[in-house]
Amino acid sequence: MKILIVEDEEGLREALIRTLTGEGYLADGAADGDEGYQLICTGLYDLVLLDIMLPVYDGLEVLRRIRKQGFRVPVIMLTARSTLEDKVGGMDLGADDYLTKPFAMPELLARIRMVSRRGAGSAADSRLKAGDLYLDTQTYTLSSASGSRSVRLGAKEYQLMEYLMRNPDRVLSREQITQRVWGYDADAEYNNVDVYVSFLRKKMKFVQTGARITAVRGVGYELEAEE
Ligand code: CA
Repeated sequence: MKILIVEDEEGLREALIRTLTGEGYLADGAADGDEGYQLICTGLYDLVLLDIMLPVYDGLEVLRRIRKQGFRVPVIMLTARSTLEDKVGGMDLGADDYLTKPFAMPELLARIRMVSRRGAGSAADSRLKAGDLYLDTQTYTLSSASGSRSVRLGAKEYQLMEYLMRNPDRVLSREQITQRVWGYDADAEYNNVDVYVSFLRKKMKFVQTGARITAVRGVGYELEAEE
């Protein structure tokens, strides 16, 4: 799961990125409302932590703009102000949760788990499903309804598989995949994507799924996962 932190206080932003990365999430930061808005519009994020008091334009405005653009990514608002007015404003604009600063990291992590589960639609099942293919988001285990074998994925394999499974039957460009899995600052070469796709194909074959990753010439890859 990839999380964007829109927070202008550099110390807090870096601390959040470190904590989330340590918990196995992918995390990027943005320092103002405009940068945050632009990054959310890439569609690369599964969850956004959005501060309210931000330079350029504030968190409520970011939220208003992304919802107007049709982005339904879950948003947890962060703010030093705990006035009822802010809370109601954020919720009205489509925030999923609200956390008042200062907060303890365990509380933030609990909220993230709660909001992301709500998005998956089921509280008990930690598995992502695409066609007959299952990916356990807790154990990184890949399995299929058609076979009895399962296999554990490495961290980057998992991030790539998760991205494909959250976007079934949609072509994802090499650039999107690189940004999503390796991040903006990584100097990962595009052919890393091809290497990891070949790893995943072997593991998908092993678990005997009917789903497959097809190459779209000159663009990228698509997970074909018909029921
Ligand atoms: Ca702030």
